[in-house]
Amino acid sequence: MGDLSQPGSKPAPRRIGVLGGTFDPVHIGHLRSALEVADALHLDELRLTPNARPPHRDTPQVTPQDRLAMVQCAVQGVAPLTVDARELQRDKPSYTIDTLELMRAELAADDQLFLLLGWDAFCGLPSWHRWEELLQHCHILVLQRPDADSEPPDALRNLLAARSVSDPLALEGPGGNITFVWQTPLAVSATQIRQLLASGKSVRFLVPDAVLAYIEAHGLYRASN
Ligand code: ATP
Repeated sequence: MGDLSQPGSKPAPRRIGVLGGTFDPVHIGHLRSALEVADALHLDELRLTPNARPPHRDTPQVTPQDRLAMVQCAVQGVAPLTVDARELQRDKPSYTIDTLELMRAELAADDQLFLLLGWDAFCGLPSWHRWEELLQHCHILVLQRPDADSEPPDALRNLLAARSVSDPLALEGPGGNITFVWQTPLAVSATQIRQLLASGKSVRFLVPDAVLAYIEAHGLYRASN
């Protein structure tokens, strides 16, 4: 949404979404989902935020720089999607709360931050570092599949009762609420893409052409034999 304010008046609050992931590699499932949320919620910006991976989970031939470069290729010219590289610029994995605090410190007090989480990630929230503080900095958008089993864990029941709002467009203020965005995700995963590439198969149309070109130019995800 553009800034429709009159000259001299206060700018309208910005609406910024954050989608974290390993993006190993980024694919059309991530991108289509991100774009649909950005459209549905009239976001000014949706930041794809590649996570640092714990060392034991690293795929040896793909560096954080390669994952970042692929996300940059993918969102090039696709407003309002952008890339936020800050979690890869630290020397250890970041907690989401730290990233949100840093982002919040850069925004105006009334700008709105929306953290996008899949239902599974949302259900795992009680194990996150300082999870109870997340809503001080953002709203949470839970991306829910129409066919999903939707019984939240007990630890989240009270929070949902107190904080959930049924209409995503009714969320007001910089943060503090939870809402559900219903989506039918494309059946694509990074795991499937890595497997196809390792067995010498094509991933054309599962990733944007620019990402495919990067993968091919750098020989990524090939079986090391
Ligand atoms: P992997 O197969 O390596 O586990 P992934 O494809 O699930 O990877 P992630 O980088 O872990 O990708 O995902 C980042 C975020 O994107 C997560 O919130 C995840 O739920 C979401 N996501 C992953 N795949 C899809 C998809 N096909 N459609 C919509 N969202 C997706």
